[in-house]
Amino acid sequence: VKKIAVLTSGGDSQGMNAALRSVVRSGLFYGLEVYGIQRGYQGLLNNEINQMDLRSVGDIIQRGGTILQSARCPEFMTPEGQQKGADILNQHGIDGLVVIGGDGSYQGANKLSKLGIKTMGLPGTIDNDISFTDYTIGFNTAVSVVVDAVNKLRDTMSSHARSSVVEVMGRHCGDIALHAGLASGAETILVPEVPYNMDEIADRMKENFDKGKRHSIVIVAEGVGRGEDVAQGLKERHASIDARVTVLGHIQRGGTPTPFDRNLASRLGDFAVRSLIEGQSDKGCGIINGELVLTDIDKVVNTKKDFDMDMYELALRLSQ
Ligand code: ADP
Repeated sequence: VKKIAVLTSGGDSQGMNAALRSVVRSGLFYGLEVYGIQRGYQGLLNNEINQMDLRSVGDIIQRGGTILQSARCPEFMTPEGQQKGADILNQHGIDGLVVIGGDGSYQGANKLSKLGIKTMGLPGTIDNDISFTDYTIGFNTAVSVVVDAVNKLRDTMSSHARSSVVEVMGRHCGDIALHAGLASGAETILVPEVPYNMDEIADRMKENFDKGKRHSIVIVAEGVGRGEDVAQGLKERHASIDARVTVLGHIQRGGTPTPFDRNLASRLGDFAVRSLIEGQSDKGCGIINGELVLTDIDKVVNTKKDFDMDMYELALRLSQ
């Protein structure tokens, strides 16, 4: 490959900018021309493509969001849209593309690879729901945002012996809830991967309050249901439980990326570029046990991420 492009697509995450910076600077370091595509696949179809230089990614490693902006693009779901995208890349002489995004964005990259463009996927999503990588770019920052919020809630909850129900992101994957729950000492963690019994949770909470516990944190992944419904369920079972709900929402996608996410993004961005230069295509880039790994995108998008049951059980043991 001689000319590569990079885009950010789907839900944004902290660290996308750091990944972009790494792709651009590594590409230039290895003698490639690098182009930035605005607004994901939509920008590709609109031909919003600009050449990037070293300075164009200056002062962004610390910024959340993505300077290229992100978008969802229904037209790119169609074979005609995908062909149009490949044609536009060919007109520019671009033969390699790095896609930073989630599952859907990976599938778009997979389609383009079948049309002759060499593609690499970088896992950019806060949910940590991409297989064949231990961590996605943005996950660590999102967990810090949740833990910081729970710390603040604890102060006020313990003044009143209240229970705090915190709804966090994670439609299919409970990793934000799990990691933030363990780190913040949550009493209850509700995730889509593990069935739960509301009666048991309410009884345990009441017992703990009766034994003198001063607060109780319940973390609910959005895939399980609404925090409001969980709070209602607790109150219905024991009128003495004073449960208050906080929905963190998009705050979890904002803020300066943690050093962990910046370094993950920097390593994966450079790895994607080197893999394209080596002639690889249609691969998701990940990090497993500290090692950089490539996995076929087909396999990445068709494999459900493992849930760490040991960690879940540990969180339960420590929350008594
Ligand atoms: P994420 O990448 O965060 O999972 P989406 O699922 O919204 O976000 O996907 C982002 C974009 O990727 C979509 O708007 C669409 O343009 C493209 N995309 C998603 N799924 C496919 C698919 N099966 N084939 C081609 N393009 C797709």
